[in-house]
Amino acid sequence: MIVGILGAGQLARMIALAGTPLGVDFIFLDPSVDSCANKLGQHLHGDYSDPALLAQLAECTNVVTYEFENVPAEVAEFLAAHTQVYPSPKALAVAQDRLSEKSFFFELDIPTPAYAAVDSLDNLTLAMTTLGYPAILKSRTQGYDGKGQSVLKSEDDLKLAWELLQGVPAIVEAFVPFNREISIIAVRNVSGEIVFYPISENLHRGGILRVSTCREHDPMQQQAETYVSRLLEALDYVGVLALELFELDGHLVANEFAPRVHNSGHWTIEGAETSQFENHLRAILDLPLGATTPVGKSAMVNFIGGLPKTEDILNIPKAHLHLYDKSPRKGRKVAHATVRAENTEQLSVWLQQLTTLADQVDDS
Ligand code: AMP
Repeated sequence: MIVGILGAGQLARMIALAGTPLGVDFIFLDPSVDSCANKLGQHLHGDYSDPALLAQLAECTNVVTYEFENVPAEVAEFLAAHTQVYPSPKALAVAQDRLSEKSFFFELDIPTPAYAAVDSLDNLTLAMTTLGYPAILKSRTQGYDGKGQSVLKSEDDLKLAWELLQGVPAIVEAFVPFNREISIIAVRNVSGEIVFYPISENLHRGGILRVSTCREHDPMQQQAETYVSRLLEALDYVGVLALELFELDGHLVANEFAPRVHNSGHWTIEGAETSQFENHLRAILDLPLGATTPVGKSAMVNFIGGLPKTEDILNIPKAHLHLYDKSPRKGRKVAHATVRAENTEQLSVWLQQLTTLADQVDDS
C-alpha cells in the first residue's frame, strides 16, 4: 500500500512512523526541500496546485490524505477526480473557512459562540453593538495557532484590529469565559466503523497549544461524542477528526474542527492502545480500527521555539521525546514529549517537570 500525503511536516512524519510497521509506504508532496518527513518516504517537491505533481501523486498512490487543512479545496477536488482522497474535499472546504464551519455547526445543532461575518470596519462596529465585549476577531481562512486573531476589549480596539487583518474576510465571535478547553479525537473508517478517544483537556497560551492531558471518564465525554458523531455522519467522514470545544459550566461550545490528526491527540502515541496516527491510516485504508483504550494516565507537552537537553527530558521516568527534525525558530513547534504514569498524582509530578523544561526554552 502506498499513501500520498499533502504536506510533509511533523504530522506527516508521525503518520509515516505509524505506518511503517503496517508495511505502508509514503509519498509526500510539499514545497519544502528539507521537511520533517524527508527521511520517511519519497518526496515530490513543488507547489500543491501543480497539476503535473498532483497527477503523479494520484498515479503512484492508493489513497491520498493531508496533514493540514489549508490545502486549497480545488486541489483536493482535482485529486479526488483521479484517486481516493480522505477525508473528503467537502470536509476540507468546511473546515478551512471559519464562517462555513460555524454555519455547519449551527445546521447540526452543535452550539457555537455568537458570531457575525464582517468585511469592513463599519460592519464590525455594527456587529459589536449586538455581540458585546469582549470578543475575538478572526480571519475566516488561513488562521492557526491564534494567528490572524485579535481580542476586542472595547470600541477603541476595533480600528487597529481591523487594520491588522488587511482587508481579508473575517468573523467576529463572542469571547467564551470557558472553564477549560477540551478536544475529542474521533475516527471513522471507509466502512463506517467509528471509535472515539477519551477527551483531551488542553492548555493554550497565546493561542498555541502547550499541554494536553487525557481525561478518561470525563463527565463531558458523552456530550463531546454526540457532537463529533454529527460531524462524522454529516460529512460521510473518513479518517481522524478533532473537534475543539470550550466547556462552560457543564455545557460544551464548539470552537473549530480539524479534518486531520491533531496536536491534542499526540498523547495517544504512547498513551493509547492504538495511536491517532495508526488509526488514521487504518481508517483511510479501510482496515479495522484499533482500540482507543488509554494505557495509564497520559499527557503531552509541546516544545516551542527551542529544545531542552534530551537527557533532561529522558531523565523523567516514562517520558518519551518526539523530535520533528526542525530547526528552532521563535514560536515554532519543534518537538513534543508524552508522559505516562500509573496514577494522576504521579502524572502531575512528571508533567510539572516537563512543563518547567518547556517553559525554559519557550520564546513565544
Ligand atoms: P482558534 O485558532 O480559533 O483555535 O483559537 C486559538 C485559541 O484562542 C483557542 O484555543 C482559545 O484559547 C482562544 N479562543 C478562540 N476563540 C475564542 C472564543 N470565542 N472565546 C474564548 N477564547 C477563544
